[in-house]
Amino acid sequence: MSISNYTGHHDFIKETLRLEGAIILGYKECGDGFLVQIKMERKPQCCPECGCEITHVHDHRERIIQAGTINGKPVWIQIDRRRLRCASCGKRFYEDVPFLKRYQRITVPVQDDES
Ligand SMILES: [Zn+2]
Repeated sequence: MSISNYTGHHDFIKETLRLEGAIILGYKECGDGFLVQIKMERKPQCCPECGCEITHVHDHRERIIQAGTINGKPVWIQIDRRRLRCASCGKRFYEDVPFLKRYQRITVPVQDDES
C-alpha cells in the first residue's frame, strides 16, 4: 500500500481531525479505515524544569492513537513525536501535542517515561 501525497486530502484530514500544528506526511488504508502519518511543526519549546529554550532533539517516539472516524471509517493517527532534552539541566520531555489529549492512546509500543 502506498502513501498518498495528494495534498488536498491532507488539508481535509487535518481540518476534520483538528490536528492543530501538525504536518500530514501521508495516509494509507489500514484494515477498514485509514492510518494518517503526521509530525508536529517545529516550534520553540521551553524546558518545563528550568525554562531554557530547547534546541536539542533527543530522539523520536512513534505512537498510534485512535482518532474517531472520517466518512464512517475509523482513523488512526501515527505520530512521530519528538523527545527533547534540555542542554542546561538535562530534563527530558516530549514536545507538546495539543490534540493528543483528545484522543485515547491505543498502543504504546515502547517504554514510556513521560510523566
Ligand atoms: Zn532545563
